[in-house]
Amino acid sequence: MPDEKPNTEQCIFCQIISGKVSSRKVYEDERCVGILDINPANPGHVLILPKAHHGLSPMVPDDEMMALAIAAKRISFAQIRALNAQSTNIFIANGAAAGQKAPHMMIHVIPRKEKDGISCFTLPKNKLNTEDYEKLYKAIKTRMDERMR
Ligand SMILES: [Zn+2]
Repeated sequence: MPDEKPNTEQCIFCQIISGKVSSRKVYEDERCVGILDINPANPGHVLILPKAHHGLSPMVPDDEMMALAIAAKRISFAQIRALNAQSTNIFIANGAAAGQKAPHMMIHVIPRKEKDGISCFTLPKNKLNTEDYEKLYKAIKTRMDERMR
């Protein structure tokens, strides 16, 4: 699991945000930046980073998460207009098992075209019996209700 402690000296993304390491920022507001990925899944792939160091998305305060979502919407629209992308993927790899490799939480915004060769977004459609469906519903809903109290 990425370290949640402030880690700005070792974190390459914190250094990018502070300007110690150069990048091409396509977006910036008071809470986040959007930079062009130097190893893009597709040309124009943008990484949106909260300016504060957070290892995982559940640690990101709500106001910062809202800023990240708004940035993702705007960058997605710009990619479609500027790059003639047909679509975009917006996703977070939240933890190592989900494919997170960086120590700094980020949102990927990837311009997409038909038959562009990216297949990692093909999700399986597994069967689920009614009993398991209800168990999963109760587990998540109970936890959500506890958090809202
Ligand atoms: Zn960082």
